[in-house]
Amino acid sequence: MVHKTKIAIFFLFFLTILQAEHVWLVKFPHKDNHLLHIQKSFPLIDLLQHDYDQSSYVFLIPNNYLSDFTHFIHRLHGSFRIITNNPEKTWKKSQRRSKRWVPSDNPLDQTYYQHFLSYDEQQDWYNLLKTSLLTKKFIRSYTIGHTYENRTLTIIKILGHSHRRHQQRKYAIYIDGGMHAREWLSIGVANYILIQFLKLRKTNVKVREILYNFDIYMLPLMNPDGYEFSRHENRLWRKNRSPTPHSDYWNGDQSCYGIDLNRNFPYEWNNTIGASDHACSHSYRGPSPASENEVISVVNFLRQQQLSNQKFYAYFNLHAYGRFWLLPWTYSLSKKVSNYDELFNRSSKVVSSVMKKTYRVGQASRLLYPCTGTSIDFAATLMPHAMTFELSPMFKGLPMCFDQNKTLDDTCTVGFLTDPKEIEIDGTEIFNAIVEYMYSIIRDRCL
Ligand SMILES: [Zn+2]
Repeated sequence: MVHKTKIAIFFLFFLTILQAEHVWLVKFPHKDNHLLHIQKSFPLIDLLQHDYDQSSYVFLIPNNYLSDFTHFIHRLHGSFRIITNNPEKTWKKSQRRSKRWVPSDNPLDQTYYQHFLSYDEQQDWYNLLKTSLLTKKFIRSYTIGHTYENRTLTIIKILGHSHRRHQQRKYAIYIDGGMHAREWLSIGVANYILIQFLKLRKTNVKVREILYNFDIYMLPLMNPDGYEFSRHENRLWRKNRSPTPHSDYWNGDQSCYGIDLNRNFPYEWNNTIGASDHACSHSYRGPSPASENEVISVVNFLRQQQLSNQKFYAYFNLHAYGRFWLLPWTYSLSKKVSNYDELFNRSSKVVSSVMKKTYRVGQASRLLYPCTGTSIDFAATLMPHAMTFELSPMFKGLPMCFDQNKTLDDTCTVGFLTDPKEIEIDGTEIFNAIVEYMYSIIRDRCL
């Protein structure tokens, strides 16, 4: 019996070692198609951050790749620095200090964006929004589907102002967050935006004007299965949690579960650039377009709304991180959406006025890298304005570990591991950006 226990402990230890990952900052001397080579030779490496101009990358690397990847870097005369060889441990250490959270009776209270809500807390908050006298007249909620692990996908609709009761606005805005499990900041910021629209619906001139023209639909948490897995098992998890053809074969290798939802949308899905067909990859596109419950639920919802009297006009897709304002197309380096110049000019003006020019605006495939089956490419087939915000990694006084020539500790961040205090800082910036962007459309009478 003791012997068996020892074997089990050894096996578990071995599995942990096998699954452990490193975070490395890698630099190459020249600009080249490094990513394409890396994706081909090391399909399980995950790109966390990319600075094309500097030819530098931050990768999450499985332990069993370390030796081969080191040779690969040296062969290309590159260099690397280990940021952490145990992101989970560093993350758990920083979390021990977090305080117990107490919900408020007021659904617009700051407590709902000063904390990373769990899925259950998020559902309780939606229920409070639906029942509280402060908010119930101004919202509707829709269950658009369920995940593989049977969690509910909830959209909250913020009702615009109307002259007559039950009158629907002609146009609508769609905002989502939490598509990638580890990008907790995008969920918090979505919640912040929802609260601000409700709080300022009467008092802020621009918000009031927007709500005279648009209803706003929000899905703050698109990937609840992945998010809960990221909260409890693997902080840097990205995909959803549905099984893949490899999950049984590689029994115990958690990376072979899940599909990258932002590679699974049914537009240009079949094009293999930037989306992996390897089930264990962090950017696995899935077995077929819109194979995932989360994706098909959103696709059906947007298409059905589009068939009704109300048309979607703009889509703001929240991710973290990098301070990028990304425009379609994502799938192609050479093709642009037909109104690209208008999108670019309008976004650039907002970046100047709201973001002190600290966001970079441009085509997603060029500023980051081409990839297929993304939600903004799909949305751009339905509506004229579709864009992604890669939120900020910067937290007051907490610089990026890569910039500071440091290894990961409590005094710097690797972007995903953000402090909840950052929600309000980024939320304010993105809320103002969305308000300015939509208000400029109304002002220019582009509707
Ligand atoms: Zn993302």
